[in-house]
Amino acid sequence: MHQARPAEGERLTESGTFHFACNDSLPCFTQCCRDVNIYLSPYDILRLRKALGGMDSAGFLARYTQNFLAKVTNIPVVQLLMDRQTLRCPFVTERGCSVYLDRPWACRMFPLDLAPGGEYTLIAGKERCKGLLEPGSASVGRWLEGQGVGRYAEMEKEYLAVVPERFKPGAAMNEGLGRVLFLAYDLDRFARLLDDPRFCSFYDVDDAMLARVETDGEELLRLAFRYIRAQMEELY
Ligand code: SF4
Ligand code: SF4
Repeated sequence: MHQARPAEGERLTESGTFHFACNDSLPCFTQCCRDVNIYLSPYDILRLRKALGGMDSAGFLARYTQNFLAKVTNIPVVQLLMDRQTLRCPFVTERGCSVYLDRPWACRMFPLDLAPGGEYTLIAGKERCKGLLEPGSASVGRWLEGQGVGRYAEMEKEYLAVVPERFKPGAAMNEGLGRVLFLAYDLDRFARLLDDPRFCSFYDVDDAMLARVETDGEELLRLAFRYIRAQMEELY
């Protein structure tokens, strides 16, 4: 007996199955990389900069994103900029994604997205995403594992943990705090603070840690999270 295919908008649990296989012979190939809203996390930016040969954070933010502090909440919003003429993602090529190994979390999730209650939802229909008509099927959990989503989810959890409980979910903070939070996206600006020995001494950053963060972007991001959290607690 054939299993029914989930429809667009349908909710799935981690053990739920769906049919999906993407490949370059499908007529929709790369169409999902056009005219799409992709919100970037601090970890997404770290990975994309790595894919671009270690591009500096300010240069990346200026060239590839639209970023601002949200009205009212002042929470940083960083969105991948599509090409103004073609509306295509700056990283898509005829052969697919040029940053595939470091593609953002949202791209790894597609055609799924997170839904409330730890569930998932199909955000594309079979008319648009022909991969949903392919015969292969897998459980949501297994498929996400294959997409390497776990690391992104862990880092996002760490990022969300820097915001004190009183500002969750999405309560308004002042602009100054929003700018402090933005350091997680503009990591080179945070790294420059480490040039000051008084800063390192105040935040217990020893030489071993300094050597680690110089070569390990994830460690640097974690240190930035620690600093931001301390600032937020101090300022509030
Ligand atoms: S629309 Fe779906 S099947 Fe087509 S390229 Fe994108 S993910 Fe793959
Ligand atoms: S980053 Fe890659 S997968 Fe994501 S929209 Fe751009 S080209 Fe497509």
